Amino acid sequence: MLNVRSALVTGSNRGIGLELVRQLVGKNNGPEWVFATCRDPEGPRAQDLKNLAAKYRSVKILPMDTSDPSSIKTAAAKVTEKLQGAGLNLLINNAAIVRPNTLELETAEDMAEVYKTNLIGSMVVTQAFLPLLRKASQESPQKGMSCSKAAIVNVSSEAGSITSLLAWEHGHVINYRCSKAALNMLTRCQSLGFAEDEILCIALHPGWVQTDMGNAAGPAPLTVDASVGAALNTLGRLTEKDNGTFVNWEGAAVPW
Ligand code: NDP
Repeated sequence: MLNVRSALVTGSNRGIGLELVRQLVGKNNGPEWVFATCRDPEGPRAQDLKNLAAKYRSVKILPMDTSDPSSIKTAAAKVTEKLQGAGLNLLINNAAIVRPNTLELETAEDMAEVYKTNLIGSMVVTQAFLPLLRKASQESPQKGMSCSKAAIVNVSSEAGSITSLLAWEHGHVINYRCSKAALNMLTRCQSLGFAEDEILCIALHPGWVQTDMGNAAGPAPLTVDASVGAALNTLGRLTEKDNGTFVNWEGAAVPW
């Protein structure tokens, strides 16, 4: 079972990110801290998150634009301060964008912008929080790897699977697919690079979910509640044998 002292979610003001925060703090043995980061905490799209933070003292909203390295640095400094010498157990790189287009009309600008958020953003966020993840791993009495001890969860997509290319018929979205395929490679590299630190790294496909992004691709079958509930159960079951794998919300292996 997932049992973290602290967790951080990027892009947590709506969709899957918001639900991750909601279900993390709603648990009986909920974390002491859930750092709910988003790019515009004062904007109208953060109202639901603010309402949630008003109900739970453990929710700490922090501004973080994952495409802006200086805002990532500032957020990491604030989290370090709040944790008062303790580590961060669970980092969920959830923020992502998509620019709908066809293979023939895909643009260099959209490609670069989507990579900047979905891939480079996730990489820079992980680099910034790595010292805290290492600390969490070192201070944990648990043996082996788990998401309760220290983990990096990169929210990927089966749309980026080279084997299955989920929902090709619903849209080419080359920028998005390529960014997620690259994120999968990043996850594999992280899983090897951070194995000695006993930080578990996985790529997670949340399913086709009823969010702004999911519904834009057609009628999404999964509710946010069901996707996130199952995904958190899955995270709670992962061990070192899952390190560096690509799994879906129910814990089934997804082909790369
Ligand atoms: P939404 O479009 O509903 O939400 C995306 C979130 O990411 C928003 O909170 C958005 O913030 C945030 N975000 C985007 N860019 C940035 C940025 N530069 N800095 C900080 N936050 C940012 O998407 P979902 O909730 O559906 O998707 C969440 C994750 O799940 C993504 O990684 C997505 O690729 C993945 N996924 C989703 C699927 C689905 O069917 N929904 C299927 C497979 C994967 P803002 O409000 O400021 O725009």
